[in-house]
Amino acid sequence: MARIETPKRVRGTQDIFGEEQRRFARVVEAFEKVRRLYCFQQVQVPVFEATGVFARSMGETSDVVSKEMYTFPDRGDDLLTLRPEFTAGICRAYITEGWQQYAPLKLTTHGPVFRYERPQKGRYRQFHQIDAEIIGAAEPAADVELLTFADQLLRELGISEGVTLQLNTLGDAETRDAWRAALVAHFEKHRGELSDDSLTRLEKNPMRILDSKDPRDRPVADAAPDIDAYLTSEAGAFFEAVTKGLDAAGVAWTRNARLVRGLDYYRHTAFEFVTDRLGAQGTVLAGGRYDGLIGNLGGPETPGVGWAAGIERLGMLTEAPAVERPDVVLAVEDDQALGYALAAQALFRANDLSVEMIATGSPRKRYDKATKVLAKVLVSFGWQNGNPVAKNRSAAEQPLHETVKRLLDELAGR
Ligand code: ATP
Ligand code: MG
Repeated sequence: MARIETPKRVRGTQDIFGEEQRRFARVVEAFEKVRRLYCFQQVQVPVFEATGVFARSMGETSDVVSKEMYTFPDRGDDLLTLRPEFTAGICRAYITEGWQQYAPLKLTTHGPVFRYERPQKGRYRQFHQIDAEIIGAAEPAADVELLTFADQLLRELGISEGVTLQLNTLGDAETRDAWRAALVAHFEKHRGELSDDSLTRLEKNPMRILDSKDPRDRPVADAAPDIDAYLTSEAGAFFEAVTKGLDAAGVAWTRNARLVRGLDYYRHTAFEFVTDRLGAQGTVLAGGRYDGLIGNLGGPETPGVGWAAGIERLGMLTEAPAVERPDVVLAVEDDQALGYALAAQALFRANDLSVEMIATGSPRKRYDKATKVLAKVLVSFGWQNGNPVAKNRSAAEQPLHETVKRLLDELAGR
């Protein structure tokens, strides 16, 4: 007889359930709470875009574009890519939807993103990000607001302990050109010591060598000149305004002069929140200012700054959230009382109480089963003298006692 092969989950994808799902939900809820406090609007953008949207905005030489994109032809002639991040799609939307009229726009979104990577702990092919962007604000105050938002989120999640904000400036265009020339001169001198990947980067995008993870590159990268000597006074003032703003807002930071975002349109602020608690997957939240991106996509020159964080990685750092306890469990101890119990259930839920009902299996065992639900309140339903009776089993000092009593009285009076 032919055996039916059982389906397999695709490598690098996840089925998120139980404790993992509770961690996931906790991150999204905290993000949503802090979003409101900072008055950001929510936005949804497509899961796939024309490939060029990502290729042009993230840069051909970035790891993501050169080797991690899920790109496929659809049934027409278009080449599409599953989003590997949110910024590019949001900037595309800003251009195509004419959102200039709303600038400055403070936006958040979250959802699945896709990267063809080697799966391991904390690294998946479909993972999830939360994302925050401010588009159309050129001032350092926008960078400060985004960083303060991120910092408050980590506090809200109880994981700010052991997570460090590493901050750098990439300067303005003039700064970058001068620094880039100095970097190229330095790396040219040390060609022989660089990895093959970095030799390619040297041709196309030399700054990226600075954040290479290849140990062969580290000595040369660490000895490379800092940007500081090349900062124009404007770029220096911008960075100072950001750091002063962070100090004023009580956000701790450290300078990491090696931290880069390698693309030409990145400007000024670059940052990562880094932890030592996740092994090699240490970056939990990262972002920066991308003033040239929208122009590069063919839109009007528009400044922008933003960050993204992996929901799974944040979730791994949070304490395991408790299993949700229902407010009320109903034990239907006599089937004749079922209709009455259903009416009670509907009334409780209409009054914002969460309810679980135990009405199957042997009636004698239902009460015991209901106690195991660990709801805050237990109400039992029986049948006496041809009438249904409901008993509120909660102690009078129980916070929900009065509410349950009032609702049961209301039901009895109908
Ligand atoms: P890494 O250096 O870990 O590859 P990255 O620089 O590619 O990270 P970003 O593009 O800045 O990461 O994405 C923002 C965040 O998304 C990261 O800080 C991390 O929390 C998360 N992230 C990135 N790639 C993955 C992945 N493959 N699986 C799970 N989370 C990820
Ligand atoms: Mg990566």
